[in-house]
Amino acid sequence: MRYADLFGATRREAPRDIESINGQLLYRGGFVDQTAAGIYTWLPLGVRVLERVERIVREEMAAVGAQEIIMPKLHPKEYWEQTGRWDRVDVLFKLESRTGKSYALGASHEEIVTPLAQKFIHSYRDLPKAVYQIQTKFRDELRAKGGVLRGREFGMKDCYSFHATREDFLQYYDQMLVAYRRVFERCGLTATRVRASGGDFTENISDEFHVETPSGEDTLRICDACRIGVNVEIAATQQACSTCGGALRETTGIEVGNTFDIDTKYSGAINFTYTDEAGVAQPVIMGCYGIGTTRLVGAIVEAHHDEAGIRWPASVAPLAAHVVVVVPRDAEKRVRVMGAAQDLMSQLSHAGIEALLDDREDTSTGAKFADADLIGIPVRIVVSDRALGEGGVEVKYRDAAEGSVQPRETVVAALVEAKGRTH
Ligand code: ATP
Ligand code: MG
Repeated sequence: MRYADLFGATRREAPRDIESINGQLLYRGGFVDQTAAGIYTWLPLGVRVLERVERIVREEMAAVGAQEIIMPKLHPKEYWEQTGRWDRVDVLFKLESRTGKSYALGASHEEIVTPLAQKFIHSYRDLPKAVYQIQTKFRDELRAKGGVLRGREFGMKDCYSFHATREDFLQYYDQMLVAYRRVFERCGLTATRVRASGGDFTENISDEFHVETPSGEDTLRICDACRIGVNVEIAATQQACSTCGGALRETTGIEVGNTFDIDTKYSGAINFTYTDEAGVAQPVIMGCYGIGTTRLVGAIVEAHHDEAGIRWPASVAPLAAHVVVVVPRDAEKRVRVMGAAQDLMSQLSHAGIEALLDDREDTSTGAKFADADLIGIPVRIVVSDRALGEGGVEVKYRDAAEGSVQPRETVVAALVEAKGRTH
């Protein structure tokens, strides 16, 4: 892909109302555009990152046997009335059709998924089941200042599981915690599990996953020994770790996901039951598990950046390499350098490595380097007359201070090897 052909270039400055680091860097790097506060367009580079994050989520959902579906975004009012949430959920966007029928824009999908599952789950033989979707959610958030961390329209993976017994649910919940840990790790994040319920065993379980960053909206108290914490909003008075009794460290975090024991809250509301082995109707037990996919991209930027720009972990980088051509003025040298860049691009493409080629002639090398740092692709490869003279191209990792000249083949082989490690 040529930088010059890319729809959506880098920008020197972000508008003043984009205050957060992730919002500024994603805007300036050409990953997103802001249509209005909390409403974003994802540009080609941003879509690439989002797709890589979503792919990781899909793989880990498949690993716990969850099947992908796509539910509607437009929800008839009756669905939300059945659970009493039409009037209770303050962030619900509501609209009316020409004929006076009322709808909500999906803020969450329990209201849709529960009656859906009721159509297919009748007997204990149909259980357990889990479905998920990755989809746009709409919420009338009062404050939408955190860049893509808090959108009024945003991407979420929401998964729902259905069980015959509490035991079965609890076992699945533990599997989901493992899947969540893997998703965040694979995205290059250290997420801490934060107990969101009070810890009383008669209460429903719920956990949040937080990425610690200075910009996090939530105040947490974390036990570093157990790598578990509490949300101050919920457990304001807790001072010691409930597992080891150790001291808790106060910090701030971004909630990238959560897992809920919703038990029979929604199944009960619509009398969703299954017949057990004895032929007796029993309530279906449910779990619900969310990950903010667009927020995850923002959290990655908050966790991985420096003054110059983003430093994408290889697993979610928009492309694997950023090829910068130092275009010589001399015509003969120019042909040689441009030719070498083309050769490198086709070698990379044959090896299955996606690279961004910046061969702009009207832009200084310094500006191209600044763009490469801002965009944050993990490996920068400079094709120049000087490096060619030294027998190769200059390779510099985004997180290293210095680069080194290496033969083209070595560079391609290293990228192929790195790709093998991140997949
Ligand atoms: P928050 O407390 O941050 O508002 P929430 O408790 O409302 O989150 P859920 O309704 O459980 O969150 O949604 C699941 C996940 O979706 C959250 O863990 C978060 O990662 C993401 N999410 C929630 N609201 C937003 C938003 N406005 N913009 C982007 N992502 C969001
Ligand atoms: Mg919320």
